[in-house]
Amino acid sequence: MSTLLELFKTMEYGPAPESPSAVNAWLEEHNRKFGLFINNEWVTPKGAKYFASHNPSNDELLAETVQAGQKEVDAAVAAARAAFESWSRTPGVVRARYLYAIARNIQKHHRLLAVLESMDNGKPIRESRDIDVPLLARHFYYYAGWAQLMETELRDYQSVGVVGQIIPWNFPLLMLGWKIAPAIAMGNTVVLKPASYTRLSALLFAEIVAEAGLPPGVVNIITGSSKSGSMLVEHPDVDKIAFTGSTDVGRILRRQTAGSGKKLSLELGGKSPFVVFEDADLDGAIEGVVDAIWFNQGQVCCAGSRLIVQENVAAKFIQKLKNRMDHMRVGDPLDKSIDMGAIVDQSQWDTIDGWVKTGVSEGAECYQPNIKMPEHGLFYKPTLLTGLDPAAATVQEEIFGPVLVSLTFRTPAEAVELANNTRYGLAASVWSDNINLALEAASNIKAGSVWVNCTNQFDGASGFGGYRESGFGREGGKEGLFEYLRPIWMERPRPDFKAPAEGTKSGWGEHVPARPAMPTTERANGSDLRPRVDRTPKMYIGGKQVRPDGAYTLSVLSAKGKLVGQVGDGNRKDIRDAVEAAHAAHLSKPGWAMRHGFNRSQILYFIAENLDARNAEFVKRIVEMTGRTQKSAQAEVDAAVERLFSYAAWADKYGGTVQETTLRGITVAVNEPMGVVGIACPDEYPLLGFVSLMAPAIARGNTVVMIPSQKHPLSATDFYQVLDTSDVPGGVVNIVTGDREHLVKTLVQHEDVDSIWYFGTAEGSYYVEYESAANMKRTWVGHGLPRNWMDREQGEGHEFLHEATQVKNIWVPTGE
Ligand code: NAP
Repeated sequence: MSTLLELFKTMEYGPAPESPSAVNAWLEEHNRKFGLFINNEWVTPKGAKYFASHNPSNDELLAETVQAGQKEVDAAVAAARAAFESWSRTPGVVRARYLYAIARNIQKHHRLLAVLESMDNGKPIRESRDIDVPLLARHFYYYAGWAQLMETELRDYQSVGVVGQIIPWNFPLLMLGWKIAPAIAMGNTVVLKPASYTRLSALLFAEIVAEAGLPPGVVNIITGSSKSGSMLVEHPDVDKIAFTGSTDVGRILRRQTAGSGKKLSLELGGKSPFVVFEDADLDGAIEGVVDAIWFNQGQVCCAGSRLIVQENVAAKFIQKLKNRMDHMRVGDPLDKSIDMGAIVDQSQWDTIDGWVKTGVSEGAECYQPNIKMPEHGLFYKPTLLTGLDPAAATVQEEIFGPVLVSLTFRTPAEAVELANNTRYGLAASVWSDNINLALEAASNIKAGSVWVNCTNQFDGASGFGGYRESGFGREGGKEGLFEYLRPIWMERPRPDFKAPAEGTKSGWGEHVPARPAMPTTERANGSDLRPRVDRTPKMYIGGKQVRPDGAYTLSVLSAKGKLVGQVGDGNRKDIRDAVEAAHAAHLSKPGWAMRHGFNRSQILYFIAENLDARNAEFVKRIVEMTGRTQKSAQAEVDAAVERLFSYAAWADKYGGTVQETTLRGITVAVNEPMGVVGIACPDEYPLLGFVSLMAPAIARGNTVVMIPSQKHPLSATDFYQVLDTSDVPGGVVNIVTGDREHLVKTLVQHEDVDSIWYFGTAEGSYYVEYESAANMKRTWVGHGLPRNWMDREQGEGHEFLHEATQVKNIWVPTGE
């Protein structure tokens, strides 16, 4: 007889399969055929063709669904539009009851949902049962709360309208919950398109919604290909697109919606770092790696797919990791004792395998454990690639499979540098027993979520979303609500502009310097024959007055066409210099972003004080340029001083919040600056427009490149004398005058500009949004629509602060 110890050593996990029978019964109820869910009914288009959905672990046919064409997309949007009229007016407390009922129904159907999700996607039942479905319910409970509180806590906001939502296949239910719950809580109605590989759990969810008694048309679900998704994006009656998927498709959507006035949020790809310092609990970190990269077979947007280990513990850590990999269990997703299930589709399997081969060709050593694998089905071994160069394609590109690449570092600074050496910025995981070191790294890594000594933490109460090419917008938490709200005073922008056909060459932003008008030589006074000294205002770059690179000037005319001055006609080189100066000021120690809010607020008060001291001069200048009355110009200058006071106040009052997540520990949402913000100012209020945009940006730690009003630039060029006397460090505010569209074009195409604010024409707004897709800059544009900058509601406040910041959530567990 074996001893207990021998038994313990040889004990294998036996299979513990979950039964698929309830799911099969549900599929049979529908004859394994599904239509589209519109107005709480199943709609089958005449002559519909069906497309099969298979279980990736055994290739069994699960069911067939139809593809939505233009007619069906139109019908779904019309249903959502009709429902919006009453749903948006339904009191929040009533909407809360519906969300609560959906959450309860999800819990009642927990097992059915989890088993279907695993059969459709291939993910282990342990994950769908313990993570995906509970989190789905949690999001509906959380946002039921915000529906309840909307009228009191968000009274300055209104619903956006009809929302088109497009989701990927890796977390079909969870992504659906992240999108639908906040949208309907805030009074919007929805048309959602699930991914082609995984359509079925969304259809089961549709039934759950109907069962909860949600009014028809509030949630509509249409299956279909990327073409159906594209129709939804293009639909003129859709007010917002919320997309989760790859960065490449995100770019297409950014371009497609450019200039349309549709709101857009993009949750895109990632290549997240997993940083292990020498003093980390290495065994704990190993379990962290397993969760970070092999959760959901590595098909996770925030997968910790780049392991970055301190050099002196790297060999030990990699050996421990390989030992752990030798004990991974890959198999039937419905088996409760497996670690990894099946890859979603053959094409994904091929892509993953292709990347592993690329890694090897790039010089990687490839480790795949010698473990038992199922004979059939789309299974892939956990894989580790070591010895790669940080610039290797396998280190830089998202593989979206169970493949980990590893790098080493020597110093904490090098760890952060490597972590940030990516075009993405979705998440990061940092492991160290030194809390100072871990938190310093967490604050320096550019990513939307940073997990300290943990990984893959999610909760309804915390936002999730990316920096850089991982997209913009947040899902979850209070911050996630703003994707589904519009300020109360603002209508849905419907710009008066038709986007040119794709591929059409545009002349936007092309600029030929014109010969400036020659000023008539004025005498300083009647009796003195000496001409006045010519004083053409310079650019203001890096805290210095500089002449325009091209040595051209632009004439500034009064309302009556009289020449009132000249300014430099900036070009690409001036913009590049200004961006460089803004970068230096942002990063140099202690960079503007690193100063504490109190210091920034003192400087803003100082600017206000100095502007007020020169009040009369600024009034005179506005009258001279615009022809407005003295009284109106005086009101503008007074409002500008007031606005500086407002943002001096906000400089130390918008740092973030403690999020009440389910983590035992601390989750903090930090409102970080965007970085370098390029700002093109409106013409309406030459001083106030400039100040209203500059002040919130710098109050929150950004450095800026300002393009003042092209028509009336002299208030801005006078303003740099105010900046000079107000202790503003060089490079924090840079001013480049000239042809606004031409200068913005260079700014938006600049790789090192993090965000663009543009308050020019509808055409310019289109191009800014379109061009920003190249590196997924966040943009804020005015669509050429009027905004009353004098009005406090429209000219300052939360909208401005929101645009000046991006939220990073840092998760720190406490206890043993
Ligand atoms: P994908 O190819 O970009 O597809 C995502 C969704 O967009 C699918 O529903 C797809 O439909 C649809 N689609 C594709 N092309 C479209 C177009 N031109 N117009 C409108 N819709 C279009 O991404 P995926 O392969 O499904 O998902 C993996 C990606 O999602 C990864 O990059 C991952 O990092 C990212 N992701 C990000 C997050 C996040 O929160 N940041 C979360 C999960 C996943 P079809 O399926 O019919 O093609």
